Amino acid sequence: MRQRTLIWTIVIGFFVAAGLGLALTRPRAQEAISDTRVMMDTSIEIRIFGSKRTLEAAFKRVQELDELMSRTRKGSDIYKVNQEAGRRWVEVSADTYQVIETALKFAELTGGLFDPTITPLVELWGIGTDNPQIPDQGAIEKAQELIDYRRVDLDPKGRKVRLAQPGMGLDLGAIGKGYAADSVAQLLRERGVKSALLNLGGNVYVIGGKPDGTPWRIGIQDPFSNRGTHVTILEVRDTSIVTSGPYERFFIRNGKRYHHILNPETGYPAETGLASVSIICPSSITGDALSTSVFLLGLERGLALLEELENVEAMLITNDRKVYLTSGLKSQVKSLAKGFEFHE
Ligand code: ADP
Ligand code: MG
Repeated sequence: MRQRTLIWTIVIGFFVAAGLGLALTRPRAQEAISDTRVMMDTSIEIRIFGSKRTLEAAFKRVQELDELMSRTRKGSDIYKVNQEAGRRWVEVSADTYQVIETALKFAELTGGLFDPTITPLVELWGIGTDNPQIPDQGAIEKAQELIDYRRVDLDPKGRKVRLAQPGMGLDLGAIGKGYAADSVAQLLRERGVKSALLNLGGNVYVIGGKPDGTPWRIGIQDPFSNRGTHVTILEVRDTSIVTSGPYERFFIRNGKRYHHILNPETGYPAETGLASVSIICPSSITGDALSTSVFLLGLERGLALLEELENVEAMLITNDRKVYLTSGLKSQVKSLAKGFEFHE
């Protein structure tokens, strides 16, 4: 009897030890964990092959950046700079400073069509708020006078920013999510994550490929259909894919759609014949700034700007459903959803 118990103990012990051994040696990075939370005024999905702690740290990073760069959050860097417009210099975090500098670079590149001092117009239209409106012409012109990226003063030594005139205001909405994606990706890589997918309100970033070695498959949204309907699917690794378009945030008045990418020259939502612009490149801040910039520039000037840049691929869709690809994408995109055609 005793001997049998001993044998059983040994047998069971063996299986427990073997099971435990398996559990410990199985690479933990293979487990996908993910969550979706509302931050930065949008839905943020983070999916990683890593630990719960790392996932939490990633969301915390997004939260921190939102608290620094939100235009509307009291106490943020941007809130303070806007409050002190025409008065004082404001010291900002290194993150905020870098994003402002990059935004100003794209303002230069686009001759001021992309302009991070767009705030007066953004506030006037209120697109995305509960009370959007078509402003009267006088109000639009007053707002336009306050928009000028050349009147943002920077002091790199003190990391200080000052807006030249009261009423001016910074808005990093067209670039902040890209920076956040880069920043979270860096945090994840530092923590040893080899495979991850981030989606910050349509601003996608992938680390590595999938753990099984295959690439990530990222759908490009059909700008004329419901969310989740795709024009094509790209297979990618270690890159960012950012899409801008008028279908994201808008309101409809008298049968006409008014969207959230505003042309500072007209004071109205930009109508350039483009339905969407997707930018594929390793830096998500570049992708974010560029997708909005190219959208504002329109097809011809947008393609010309893209020509000048290295390591950047793009897919532009026009309102008449023609698809334009940069040369590096042509071998990748072989088919399109029904109704779309390649531009020859
Ligand atoms: P999304 O935020 O939907 O991804 P974008 O990256 O294209 O879209 O950014 C749009 C946001 O950028 C607007 O909601 C507004 O905050 C800001 N914005 C609007 N017009 C301009 C402009 N001409 N230049 C810079 N930023 C702009
Ligand atoms: Mg953008």
